[in-house]
Amino acid sequence: MNKKGSVVSDVLGNFDHGLTLALSKGRILKETLPLLANANIALLEDPEHSRKLIFPTTHPHVRILILRASDVPTYVENGAADIGVAGKDVLMEHGAHNVYELLDLKIARCRLMTAGKVGAVRPAGRLKIATKYVHLTRQYFAGLGEQVDVIKLYGSMELAPLVGLGDLIVDVVDTGNTLRANGLEPLEEICKISSRLIVNKASFKRKQAVLGPILAQLEQAVAAKS
Ligand code: ATP
Ligand code: MG
Repeated sequence: MNKKGSVVSDVLGNFDHGLTLALSKGRILKETLPLLANANIALLEDPEHSRKLIFPTTHPHVRILILRASDVPTYVENGAADIGVAGKDVLMEHGAHNVYELLDLKIARCRLMTAGKVGAVRPAGRLKIATKYVHLTRQYFAGLGEQVDVIKLYGSMELAPLVGLGDLIVDVVDTGNTLRANGLEPLEEICKISSRLIVNKASFKRKQAVLGPILAQLEQAVAAKS
């Protein structure tokens, strides 16, 4: 407990007065850190080389949780994290309840697309689509007035059509290099994707004092980049 009566330095325990930020390893962490630097938030240790999941920062009121990308909305929704960074694909698939999507950070940009084997001819009858985006896939094909069978996968979607698990995949695509390396080609763009800053609705009200300046600085950092 410090002089102000708060327990903010105790990152593993009660952090009620501080701000907990949820991120995922990989591109989101890498691309969010430079933005956080503008808000004077830096990690003291590199999560990519640590087994820890909870990290203090140079900002005395901010700690960072490292989660699976698809778990970030769940933590923020339930208030286990106050704020988080998640891809729009994850937010749309998961459905973000009880959170505000406050800022397009314009990082981890890609497109949600259908893809199939190079030159493959569309089979007769119902298409089978392998994807981790079950909800978005159903919604997209329903919008086209087409009934499809959706096969749920958790990763390595590019493999599926090669071994006959589905005619097409729905996945996020950046350069298309991974698709091409596996004999697939991008077909239709479903939507453009970037990562968003989400905030728990209660935290947004209750933690304005610490959150307000950080949001303003992040907004500035994003604007300065584009
Ligand atoms: P995991 O790889 O652990 O299964 P994930 O694929 O959801 O999880 P990342 O690969 O780190 O995690 O992707 C995080 C987010 O970055 C995605 O939700 C998406 O918005 C975006 N993204 C994914 N792949 C790319 C890419 N090739 N280029 C740019 N952005 C991407
Ligand atoms: Mg990935």
